[in-house]
Formats: sequence, C-alpha cells, structure tokens
Amino acid sequence: MSVKQKLENLKERLAPSDRMPLVFLGHGSPMNAIQDTAYSRAWTKLGESLPRPRAILVVSAHWMTRRTTLVDVSAMPKTIHDFYGFPDELFAQQYPAHGAPDLAREVTTLLASHHAEEDDTWGLDHGAWTVLKFLYPGADVPVFQVSIDMSRDLAHQLEIGRTLSELRDRGVLILGSGNVVHNLQAIKWGPKSKPHDFALEFDTLFANRLTERDFATLADRKGLGSLLKMAHPSVDHYMPALTIAGASDDRDDLTYMTDAIDLASVSMRSYVFHAR
Ligand code: ZN
Repeated sequence: MSVKQKLENLKERLAPSDRMPLVFLGHGSPMNAIQDTAYSRAWTKLGESLPRPRAILVVSAHWMTRRTTLVDVSAMPKTIHDFYGFPDELFAQQYPAHGAPDLAREVTTLLASHHAEEDDTWGLDHGAWTVLKFLYPGADVPVFQVSIDMSRDLAHQLEIGRTLSELRDRGVLILGSGNVVHNLQAIKWGPKSKPHDFALEFDTLFANRLTERDFATLADRKGLGSLLKMAHPSVDHYMPALTIAGASDDRDDLTYMTDAIDLASVSMRSYVFHAR
C-alpha cells in the first residue's frame, strides 16, 4: 500500500478536526519541571491558548533509535526519569496521561516506509513530560511518543514531519521537544552566563531560515558545516525542531516564544505554527 493510500485509510477512520497547531519547545534543564522559570511560565501560557486535541504526538530528543522509528503503542505510558543527580522532587514527578494505542498503531502504518515499528517499552521521557506538565496540567489528553532515527540524515526528519502533518486535520497536536542549540560540553554555569558566539550565530541563522521557510538549508549538514557541529555535537536535540518544520506548510503562521540562550550554549527558542 502506498503512503497516499495509507493516508486515505487513516482519514476515513479518524474524524476531521480544525487544523491543529504545531509546537516546538526548547526544554533545557529538567529542573524547569519543578521551578517557576520564564520557560515554565511561557509553557503554561501557551497551554492556555492551545486547543484540546484528540491526542498529542511527541517527538522528543531523548528517544533515539537507529535504523528504525519506534512508535509507543502502550495504553499507559510510564513517566521516565531519564537523568541523574537531580533532587528527589524531580524523580517523584509523574505525568499520568493515557496513551493512544489505536492511533499510535495507525501512525506506525503511516510511517512504515520509514521503517516504523510498534513499541510498548518506552513511555514519556523528560523531553515530553517536563513540558506537557505545563501545557496540559490535567494529563487528560492521550499522549504517545515517536522516536528519532539517528542513523538517518537531517532531511529525513523533515520527511517524517511532512508525513505526520496529515494528522493535524484529524485532531492530533504534534509537539517537538529539543533545543535549537544544545552543546553540553560548552555550558557555562550561572544564570547570567554570556552566550557563546556560535550559539547566538546558529540560533539566529535557524530563526532566519525558519522564518523564510528555507528548511533545505536547515537540513543541509554539509552546508551548515562546523557551525552545526559547535551548536550540536550530536544532533538529537536538533532533530525534533526539523520534524516540526517539516509538518508545517504555507497555510501556517509562525510565532516565536522564548528565545534566550541558557548556560551559554543551550537555546531555549521555541515556536508555534498556527494554521491561518
Ligand atoms: Zn534534553
């Protein structure tokens, strides 16, 4: 069955909806989940303005796979505390949302040509729950994650986004969680750390290209060259930003939210594509 046929089948089974927005959030430190920060406040405010979707599909930087894209089909995704050395209060956090097994299985079929497979072992990693906690504090919207295939090039994530975009008309909100700049080796501790030049440069380049809808440049690893390597020694936190770009189209307006560089080398730039 072609992707087009799969889409048609999917559309027949799911009721149409208003076109859902797309959200990319720079999640930064897990501590944002338990602290009153400019970011957690911005996420709460965003949550108040978002529609109530049928389900949320999350592409988080923290679920990396190779040569496959996994889709979590579990009925009750567990809250994963995938970090070390943080306070007990953070490990005690739970985000008890239901999964969306039927929809997740449909998404696996939709992404079959991208080597997608069902998984029931993951859950919600901190890239997902530390921000969902503020967007939908009641944990009353079903959520499931889709992994990032790290063996593929950047353009692959644009393609995944493009394929998933059809779900927007079927009540699914797609949330990407990563960071536009993410170099942990270059972190400078302290609240007032001056951003590295490379961090500012990549963050600005990203925003300019995104605003121009020039996604090809953003996915051109060779063209981005050493600047990309500085901004992302590993591209895991960059990939979800591309998934969200790929799911947008020219019917969307783009709005930026927080855009600070934290700890000198982590961009907290976040953005939303709203259907006009
Ligand atoms: Zn992270």
